[in-house]
Amino acid sequence: MWKDKGMGLMLLHLQLVSFVFLRFVYSGSAGVTSRFVRSEWPSTDIPLDNEAFAVPKGYNAPQQVHITQGDYDGKAVLITWVTAEAPGSNTLHYGKSDSNYEFTAEGTVTNYTFYNYQSGFIHHSLVDCLEYDTKYFYKIGDGESAREFWFQTPPEIGPNAAYKFGIIGDLGQTYNSLSTVEHYMRSGGQTVLFVGDLSYADRYKYHDCGVRWDTWGRFVERSTAYQPWIWSAGNHEIEYMPYMGETAPFKSYLHRYKTPFAASNSTDPLWYAIRRASAHIIVLSSYSPFVKYTPQWRWLGEELKRVDREKTPWLIVIMHVPIYNSNEAHFMEGESMRAVYESLFVHYKVDVVFAGHVHAYERSYRISNIHYNVSSGDRYPVPDKSAPVYITVGDGGNQEGLAGRFRDPQPDYSAFREASYGHSTLEIKNRTHAIYHWNRNDDGKKVATDSFTLYNQYWGGNNRRRRRKLKKNYLHTVFAEVFSNGL
Ligand code: FE
Ligand code: MN
Repeated sequence: MWKDKGMGLMLLHLQLVSFVFLRFVYSGSAGVTSRFVRSEWPSTDIPLDNEAFAVPKGYNAPQQVHITQGDYDGKAVLITWVTAEAPGSNTLHYGKSDSNYEFTAEGTVTNYTFYNYQSGFIHHSLVDCLEYDTKYFYKIGDGESAREFWFQTPPEIGPNAAYKFGIIGDLGQTYNSLSTVEHYMRSGGQTVLFVGDLSYADRYKYHDCGVRWDTWGRFVERSTAYQPWIWSAGNHEIEYMPYMGETAPFKSYLHRYKTPFAASNSTDPLWYAIRRASAHIIVLSSYSPFVKYTPQWRWLGEELKRVDREKTPWLIVIMHVPIYNSNEAHFMEGESMRAVYESLFVHYKVDVVFAGHVHAYERSYRISNIHYNVSSGDRYPVPDKSAPVYITVGDGGNQEGLAGRFRDPQPDYSAFREASYGHSTLEIKNRTHAIYHWNRNDDGKKVATDSFTLYNQYWGGNNRRRRRKLKKNYLHTVFAEVFSNGL
């Protein structure tokens, strides 16, 4: 048909070029699927006699010490510890110097059984009326076995209060878990937002299930005794185990990990909110009723109305199951919650949603799918400036290993994804911007792998500049791809 071979070749070439060009026009996002393959340590739990789980010296010495925020605004701390042999003292001594504990707080003690496992004595103590931005020392336990720790209270709630959060999920108790915690502790993070799946003790049967909660508590103490971990629950906390007669959901978790739920008018420890520095943090429960008219749904609606971006510009949601996930693992599990809550997240301009569950890392662009319904036909997420960024950090390093199979092709909304272990940090600088990093555990080194500047959804204000920058990056990516494809 072509009179001239040369002309045909030229047209073919043009077609190829326009194919490449159109591909980018349509996909828009040019997301990255990292090709990094880590040399994997075995995903097995650290043995019971390892020093990572060492029992502190002395008769009935307090162990598994952990703290969390104890009120709405960060002037109180909930402190928990376990004594193994006897209840011991409930009194906690604290003060602004480690040589003079001026104050005391009285705690409560509880324990529970799980099949034939009998827990230690679990002490919970609320230390309140603290001053902001102050280092406190505290002492627990009796006589020779007493132990001392410290923590720093956050700055007062305010729009420009700088603060650095760490985000960790699906941690477990393997050598990879240890690596994640050690890397996090070197990051300068001040508080951990924990996105669920703590100990993976439910992978064990009978007596060992309780034992592995204790080892996990001793393992994370190196961080949890000194800074608050903000807890959200995952599926491994449910522990519905009829084969051993244990059917009350979250039994171990609720006995061991308290949350300040009443301070945000929640009626359930599994969902609540806190305010810390310049952030309003909403904790949701993927495994509690959440559909319309349930207590969690009603509470969330009320809590979102209370958010005051003039005081706390950063609106952060944490939960276990990701709403956007392009991994084969747990694909579509977040869809039911998306159907109920996504429009709220967009309406209230949530800055970022952190989740875990999928044992890999993934970050989305700002997208929403709120126009989708079963009869509309609009069924694909679209760019949406009011939508949050969705980040999955289920890569703490538990014994189940990595979720290495991402769906192919990478959906347009997915900006970056990689199956390796790590943690994230969100360093809030002021009311307009925060620096975000995902740090891969790269065989002993902490490597900042995915990072970007997060502009505040309420105060950001420089949308126009940002768009121009995005466009520039976008063209850059197009050219890079064209060259690497050898066209
Ligand atoms: Fe998990
Ligand atoms: Mn999970």
